Amino acid sequence: MQIKTILNRVLRHSAFVYVAERLVETVAGPTLEVQLRARANSRPRCSRCDRPGPGYDTLGQRRFEFVPLWGIKVFFLYAPRRVSCTHCGVHVEALPWAVGKHRLTTAYAWFLARWAKRLSWKEVAEVFQTSWDIVFHAVEMAVEWGREHRDLSAITAIGVDEGQWQRGHRYLTLVYQIDTHCKRLLWVGKKRKVKTLLGFFRWFGKERSAALQFVASDMWKPYLRVIAKKAARAVHVLDRFHIMAHLSKAIDEVRASEVKALKSGGYEPVLKDSRWLLKRPENLSEKQEIRLAELVQYNLKTVRAYLLKEEFQFFWGYKSWYWAGQFLERWCKRTMRSRIEPMKKVARMLRAHRPLILNWFRAKGAISSGIVEGFNNKAKLSIRKAYGFRTYHGMEIALFHALGALSEPEGTHRFC
Ligand SMILES: [Zn+2]
Repeated sequence: MQIKTILNRVLRHSAFVYVAERLVETVAGPTLEVQLRARANSRPRCSRCDRPGPGYDTLGQRRFEFVPLWGIKVFFLYAPRRVSCTHCGVHVEALPWAVGKHRLTTAYAWFLARWAKRLSWKEVAEVFQTSWDIVFHAVEMAVEWGREHRDLSAITAIGVDEGQWQRGHRYLTLVYQIDTHCKRLLWVGKKRKVKTLLGFFRWFGKERSAALQFVASDMWKPYLRVIAKKAARAVHVLDRFHIMAHLSKAIDEVRASEVKALKSGGYEPVLKDSRWLLKRPENLSEKQEIRLAELVQYNLKTVRAYLLKEEFQFFWGYKSWYWAGQFLERWCKRTMRSRIEPMKKVARMLRAHRPLILNWFRAKGAISSGIVEGFNNKAKLSIRKAYGFRTYHGMEIALFHALGALSEPEGTHRFC
């Protein structure tokens, strides 16, 4: 069997034929070169408008990298014609296996982009003996295609979250669709200002914004302001994940300052390595549970803060927003008397946003806190992986590739 036969099976062109193949030995190893030519009597098509036109001249031969076979690099060799298009003038012809000036075939670019979902970009470059830049361009192409072909209809619930990049020095705003039927990253913007989120709504459009039923977000003021203005008809929910994150952060602060105070007072560092206090009780190991019981005896602020947070978990179990509201008030009162400043700060914040927090019960079933939390973790992971290139554009591409649930063209053959 000839290689041509396989190629015609996986990637057949109506206007071009595979003529011959040969194995070329290079310093980097063997390379398979496949020669193509236009079918006899076929007219070249203009790459601008895709209309056929008379041939103008033929350019020099170009190499297009194709999906490797058995660890051997594969190249298509073809001398493109130029078309004298009556509409656009003289242009190079359209080729079915590559777009524009790309030296990667479309099939190979999709191949790399798919692998880049399973492995890091660096690993993909290593495994397929190519460069990081080529993997990046492949992913960029996949993301651009996917974003152009997105269906943005029937979006009823969104979640607004912030992210940090460049080792935490800069902020990002991420908007997710969190409908039960579709969960994905919709939009990314630089910074977390009023202007940032306004940018999302400008892109999203008035009509779609008016159709939103639920918006979940953190208590970040600029977000609250913009959501109130641009999605006024939606139920705005301060989601569980973000509220609990504020409590965890407060405990962290209490613990850090208490460790310092104990140390300077010459006491044994009972709180050392006890960051696991932030865990839910059901996630504690037996050893950690005993340790917690010991710590409780010290009546430390950290422990009291921890218990206040644990108590707050009951809030989410309420069925009626009325009783939840009563609970919230009792909890806030007690916390305000705790004399633990970071916790009091959270209580003040919760009080200030009481209606939006109670909206959680109005939206029950429609918004799961797990979605926002899951996206938040995945985004952090993608951003961390993306440190390699440091540009905003690169990170945006990485985020959409990982979280955008972008579609792919329907090919006749999937190479991976
Ligand atoms: Zn044309």
